[in-house]
Amino acid sequence: QTKLLSKSKDPYPDWKAGEPVPYAALCKTFSLVELTTKRLIIMEHCSLFLRQVLRLTPNDLLPTVLLMINKLAPDYVGLELGIGESLIMKAIGESTGRSLQVIKQDQKEIGDLGLVAVKSRSTQPTMFKPKPLTVRGVLKGLIDIAKVTGSGAQGNKVAGIKKLLSAADATGGKVDINKDKGGPSEAKFIIRFLEGKLRLGLAEKTVLVSLAQAMICHEFEMRGKVPSTDDMAKAEQVLKTVYSELPSYDVIIPAMVEHGIMNLREHCKLRPGIPLKPMLAKPTKAITEVLDRFEGQTFTCEYKYDGERAQIHYVAKDTDEELKKNMQGVTKEAADGVASIFSRNSEDLSKKYPDILAKLHTWVDKDTKSFVLDCESVAWDTVEKKVLPFQQLMTRKKKDVKIEDVKVKVCVFAFDLLYYNGEAIVEKSLRDRRDLLHKAFTPVEGEFGFATSMNGQELDEIQTFLDESVKASCEGLMVKMLDGTESGYEPSKRSRNWLKIKKDYLSGIGDSLDLVVLGAYYGKGKRTSVYGAFLLACYNPSSERYETVCNIGTGFSEAVLEELHKSLSEIVIDRPKPFYSHSTGGQHQPDVWFEPRYVWEVKTADLTLSPRYKAGCKEGVDPSGEKGISLRFPRFIKIRDDKKPDEATTSRQVAEMYRKQESVSKSKGPAVDDDF
Ligand code: ATP
Repeated sequence: QTKLLSKSKDPYPDWKAGEPVPYAALCKTFSLVELTTKRLIIMEHCSLFLRQVLRLTPNDLLPTVLLMINKLAPDYVGLELGIGESLIMKAIGESTGRSLQVIKQDQKEIGDLGLVAVKSRSTQPTMFKPKPLTVRGVLKGLIDIAKVTGSGAQGNKVAGIKKLLSAADATGGKVDINKDKGGPSEAKFIIRFLEGKLRLGLAEKTVLVSLAQAMICHEFEMRGKVPSTDDMAKAEQVLKTVYSELPSYDVIIPAMVEHGIMNLREHCKLRPGIPLKPMLAKPTKAITEVLDRFEGQTFTCEYKYDGERAQIHYVAKDTDEELKKNMQGVTKEAADGVASIFSRNSEDLSKKYPDILAKLHTWVDKDTKSFVLDCESVAWDTVEKKVLPFQQLMTRKKKDVKIEDVKVKVCVFAFDLLYYNGEAIVEKSLRDRRDLLHKAFTPVEGEFGFATSMNGQELDEIQTFLDESVKASCEGLMVKMLDGTESGYEPSKRSRNWLKIKKDYLSGIGDSLDLVVLGAYYGKGKRTSVYGAFLLACYNPSSERYETVCNIGTGFSEAVLEELHKSLSEIVIDRPKPFYSHSTGGQHQPDVWFEPRYVWEVKTADLTLSPRYKAGCKEGVDPSGEKGISLRFPRFIKIRDDKKPDEATTSRQVAEMYRKQESVSKSKGPAVDDDF
């Protein structure tokens, strides 16, 4: 921090005020970050660089931050690069005049496409000096690649990558790929971005904190002052809170530069149209555990519906001027009205649920002009008038649904109200939010309802309510703090103020796991034309590695195996990615490896230590540090297409589940918040 607080030298001296930020400057910062694992040093490099951007070219702050967090736009925009390893190899080959065969050979030897690009680029004679790349230019180039669709898309994407690669490394310096992990090579970082992960140990959370530090230091410097550590901490807190309610740098960064970081909360609040990251629950495996946690406080139980999370945003078209004035920042949207549904993952589901969107206005009284609801959408049996199991919802079409063609009807069960008539109400108590929800909305059978709830505090009452929830085709219960500040809605947190009790896990490990498919084994007997078993992994966000946790071959129907074979065949890769932690023993290798793309929900009897798997190796569960945690008798439940691979169950969560098993320890330990 001393370096940051003092007016130190700019980390990148060769760019002048007002000039676009050179991409080489960002790559230099990346290469410094890559050489350390210490979070404070990583943060210092990032903050110093962002501070220089603020001082010289503040208009480039947004593109710089986006490139640092490996995103082209906020998640809800749905702008994805959609590029696989083979397309990248093709582009590297074509842009450097090397054959695809040679590139593939290099990839086999080096195992990191970023470094393959560096090698290819450094052996290529430079005929002319290309114009240096800028941060805004690279972001635009990447956005153009992502936007290519339709016929000939692949060819056009390759052309876009080639354009960027040919302009990369304008300094022409030869980089030794064995030294300094390839150094500040532009080609390397372009390729890493295209692969979807920079793999620098630079978590988004770290960039957010660095941004807050850079901004507060810059503001103080403008006034000839230096911020105190208290000022720094306050700035970080403001930015974290604002981002969790309004996860859009496109909105936050311009507002922060204009109004200053300390005034950000007044200008950036939750607003309809921009999905916030949902609050999540901690697993428990006994009602007594819940009672221990909430001892002395009031709590409420709700059915845990088994469907798909739906965050519903609405602003009435006819919103009057007075109300518009109160809706900070939503005036533009309010003019045309908003009706959107977002997934747990902030994906826009509006094209999947036009039937729900068409009905929103009929659920509210005439004084309700805007809201954000947190709900579960569940398949509905229109004859029996009851909830159907999750499997029914799976059969519903996912895109471009026409209301008249809807076969699987859904009913929406609302459990929280986060924004109402121009005001974010996340800080109110759950009791108050629920009262408002019940006052303003009216249930419509088979279309909209309130999550069934019960406020009894006794073990017997909870047990009876749990049994009823199971009879009503629910997964179990959600138990939530009801009063006081702790009952506020905590966006993006897996919080101890929300606990889940799942019926299937009462005596097991408390929850299912969401795991990433890394590899597969060919089937035997009846299953020779498909994969018969799979290698799964959890995710370690601090090392950005996937750590293997089990082989699985149970719970799949023949039809599912065929479907999986089809989709997984498209993402086969020649060798495991360098960020897969797996056993290297010959007999344990899967027959094929995959890109990390699919997340599956898996059930297990219990967790055990095994030298064959790597999950949680670094979490101190095995004193020797050699054994990882593995699943015993794992069983496939479903594909979680609402989760990305880096949202899979984390190594720390697996370790926490392992430790909580009766046989291992009876100690409770502090709860970890793995999200921010
Ligand atoms: P899983 O859905 O597998 O339990 P998760 O990580 O998606 O895991 P959790 O926090 O573990 O989410 O569980 C909460 C999920 O349960 C919510 O995301 C939501 O989709 C669903 N849900 C159903 N009923 C409720 C309810 N009454 N309150 C809150 N969430 C509910």
